[in-house]
Amino acid sequence: TAKLELRDLEKRFDETVAVKKLSLSLEKGEFVSLLGPSGCGKSTTLAMVAGFETPTAGSILVDGQSVEGLPPQRRRIGLVFQDYAVFSKLSVRANLAFGLEAKGVGRAERAKAVQAIAERLDLTNLLDRRGDRLNMSEMQRVAIGRVLVTEPQLVLLDEPMSNLDAALRASLRGEMKLIQKQLQQTVLYVTHDQVEAMSMSDRIAVMSMGELQQIGTPEEIYRRP
Ligand code: ADP
Ligand code: ADP
Repeated sequence: TAKLELRDLEKRFDETVAVKKLSLSLEKGEFVSLLGPSGCGKSTTLAMVAGFETPTAGSILVDGQSVEGLPPQRRRIGLVFQDYAVFSKLSVRANLAFGLEAKGVGRAERAKAVQAIAERLDLTNLLDRRGDRLNMSEMQRVAIGRVLVTEPQLVLLDEPMSNLDAALRASLRGEMKLIQKQLQQTVLYVTHDQVEAMSMSDRIAVMSMGELQQIGTPEEIYRRP
């Protein structure tokens, strides 16, 4: 896992400034939420870190090294998108091994890595179950396990619960927090949901119209009566 620094990061699309002079650092193992309304520049920020969009200005450093010019597949970034999709016809084991297979990791090493991640996420009893037979909590753990098994330097989560109903989100939030505590990964979590950001983050970065408005612990960000 790695430290992530964004320095004066900027992205323009013609006349739209999607992200303006964004500076932000994530310490190793820190869980930071990028919180803000739709259109404020969260996804664009994530896309630049992942390498899908090229910044107009500024820099992105992973453990002090600029990632400029590195294509997405060379960035060692784990991405989890909306709805925690897993392959429905594949077993949990095959789902977990998928990213390793794509990277050319050998069979024995794959099996070992899958076993290790399954133990950490409490999935050992489910390794032979098919994707379409999992409940939501199991799916969440498989989707996250699939990413973590590749040992990414950074994990990026883009509104991973936005397609789910409120009750389910509430229960998965609790689990996500446990997973995070246990695995100590550097995570940038994009959400427009305050409760989600509050309940899971070490720090929250509040964005509005492309700019960082505030950053701090949940206690620092929200003033209570
Ligand atoms: P969020 O993720 O917070 O909803 P986005 O990063 O998707 O915000 O968008 C920020 C702004 O940049 C919006 O005004 C959006 O319309 C604009 N934008 C994003 N991607 C593009 C693009 N490929 N071309 C033009 N404008 C874009
Ligand atoms: P999200 O809020 O989840 O990012 P968006 O609707 O903002 O969803 O973006 C979906 C896709 O469309 C992204 O790839 C984004 O870059 C692109 N996009 C967003 N706004 C624009 C825009 N104004 N013009 C062109 N592409 C855009």
